[in-house]
Amino acid sequence: MLNLNELKKTLQFLKGIGPTKYKRFQKMGIHTIEDILYAFPREYEDRRHIDNIKGLKNEDKVSLKVTVCGDVEKVTVKRNFNIYKVPFRDTTGTAYGIFYNTPFVQNTFSIGQQIYLNGKVKIAFGEIQILHPEYEFVSNKERKLFERILPVYSLTEGLTQNDFIGIQSQVLHSYADCIDEYLPQDTIQRNRLCDIHYAIRNIHFPQSPQHLKVAKYRLVFEELLILQLGLSLTKNKLMVEQEGIKFDRKPELYRLIEALPYRLTNAQKKVLKEIENDMEQSKTMNRLVQGDVGSGKTVVALIALYKAILNGYQGALMAPTEILAEQHLHSAKELLEPLGVNTALLSGSIPKKKKEEILRKIESGEINLIVGTHAIIQETVTFHKLGIAITDEQHRFGVRQRAVLSSKGLNPDILVMTATPIPRTLALILYGDLDISTIDELPPGRKKIKTICMQQERRQAAYDFAKGQILDGRQVYIVCPLIEESESIEAKSALDIFEEVSNLYLKDFRIGLLHGKMKGQEKESVMAEFKCGQLDVLVSTTVIEVGVNVPNASVMIIENSERFGLAQLHQLRGRVGRGVHQSYCMLISSGKNNRTKERMQVMEQSENGFVIAEKDLELRGPGDFFGTRQHGIPELRIANLFKHVHVLKHAQKEAAILLEEDTTLCLEKNKVLKNKLVEKFIDRLEEISL
Ligand code: ADP
Ligand code: MG
Repeated sequence: MLNLNELKKTLQFLKGIGPTKYKRFQKMGIHTIEDILYAFPREYEDRRHIDNIKGLKNEDKVSLKVTVCGDVEKVTVKRNFNIYKVPFRDTTGTAYGIFYNTPFVQNTFSIGQQIYLNGKVKIAFGEIQILHPEYEFVSNKERKLFERILPVYSLTEGLTQNDFIGIQSQVLHSYADCIDEYLPQDTIQRNRLCDIHYAIRNIHFPQSPQHLKVAKYRLVFEELLILQLGLSLTKNKLMVEQEGIKFDRKPELYRLIEALPYRLTNAQKKVLKEIENDMEQSKTMNRLVQGDVGSGKTVVALIALYKAILNGYQGALMAPTEILAEQHLHSAKELLEPLGVNTALLSGSIPKKKKEEILRKIESGEINLIVGTHAIIQETVTFHKLGIAITDEQHRFGVRQRAVLSSKGLNPDILVMTATPIPRTLALILYGDLDISTIDELPPGRKKIKTICMQQERRQAAYDFAKGQILDGRQVYIVCPLIEESESIEAKSALDIFEEVSNLYLKDFRIGLLHGKMKGQEKESVMAEFKCGQLDVLVSTTVIEVGVNVPNASVMIIENSERFGLAQLHQLRGRVGRGVHQSYCMLISSGKNNRTKERMQVMEQSENGFVIAEKDLELRGPGDFFGTRQHGIPELRIANLFKHVHVLKHAQKEAAILLEEDTTLCLEKNKVLKNKLVEKFIDRLEEISL
């Protein structure tokens, strides 16, 4: 039954959803019936088993089926603090449900009633107690919470598991059948998948672990199939490659390399060779260079740019932030201006008049090297003769941007640089359209950064240590996840920390503040002060995450480090240890759960970006790992590119079969699948050849 409109209805009118609850669902990105059906459980709790009261031990998490065997007893502990005790028994013993300050309990339970209970056991005063148990009446026809495998959903403030489960089962009951099967029958049969209705029902309320497994496989498969189809179709479009520029070898290039204040590492040499090879072919270069923080990507980029310039072309170097663009400009000037290269900065905050002049010089060809933010290609810049465009720390230099460049009558070589190491298999999926080079070696003589994880309570010690380092002439970064205080998130804001540090921990020192809401020029001047040593301490949000290079900084303190991804922490840590000084990274966290501990330990133990990235993927899943938008790939709800590599292989095979028969998916039997694909890849549609 095709009924798309039903699925697009908002949750608002559902029974049990008032305006407040609706808002809360919206906050989670759940607006429609379809959204909630696709809000899959985070995990499951097996409540098929019912325990016996006899033999229960302290801290046991139990489900019971019992009969209320006495009146609810009210015990007044002190003023405004009452305990309500509900006695119950099963055939093996008696126990008590304990509720604090909840008078309604007295009217909820009555003798002889049969109930299910779930909660943690506490043995106190020789009694078996269960504190604030979850309960359900056996007389309820529909069993929501017991004798079944129960889904556990991700929640937001003000929304309980029970709310979610209640709404979900209502929606499933009335709407699950409205979902159209979007996989072609052939695909379902070839891969022995269950149908979509079975999958959706059992992913939420699995009848058995086996049902869950089958449902999950189908949903993972489908998600990866759609991903693979989208990416393959993007590639197909790219296959039609235009003729690019063929650069010549120039001896001046080797003079530059000889004149560097250091020798290139073998890894830098190898990558440079790969780049040069590409540049000397007439096919356009589309290459990704990945190299850990500090591996020296910038100089490789500058050499490639110089090669293009020596050939009479212009080069563009793009960075994600103005701070980083500034810094690159500085390096470019230092290295290339003495060789007669004219450089210019192009970013959002350059005054209009100055900008017009720069634009004019770019158009005339007077400027050879343009460094800047993405403004370089987004604005109405006309190049005289652009030969190569390099993006730094931008994980995806989209096909769209390439199209923009080509539409200006150019077909420049493209190089993308990233310090976020991506495991090879994943890189092949995400960047199937790019060749990959890896700088897998750091310049010699780098000292290992000492990383220490500490709990909130030991902050004083971290700051005391920082003080010592400042007195030795070093500088300190302090990074926080947020700019302003937020009600709902328990994390320290940069503003708070700035005040706290200025007034308390490091009050005798010169402290600067840097965050994303500041104007470009303000940011630059704070950064410049820190760079030249006029500031001892820089309190910052993650705007300093990528690329920033201040070799005298030796301490990185990260507040609420549990709120960052590991790859991000690794990036942040990479801001220190860039000079000759022993450097330190202190990860302050308030998370006490095991996952947080485990993640922080990875940081203590490993310095290798690849190892950390893999761990991160494993612990968090790719949804968080990749800013998916940045990559332009659709969000994965259930598939995990790391865990499901084997499913991915099947999905890739299936995608190939489908496309071989129907290159643009326009056959009637693929129509629904194509709709789904369009919906998922909405942000990249113009790149896909459908
Ligand atoms: P990233 O790869 O993180 O962008 P950078 O390009 O900023 O790294 O380089 C980090 C530092 O290492 C810079 O100060 C740079 O001058 C220096 N550097 C780069 N290559 C070498 C090398 N071969 N030997 C010594 N130092 C190098
Ligand atoms: Mg860099």
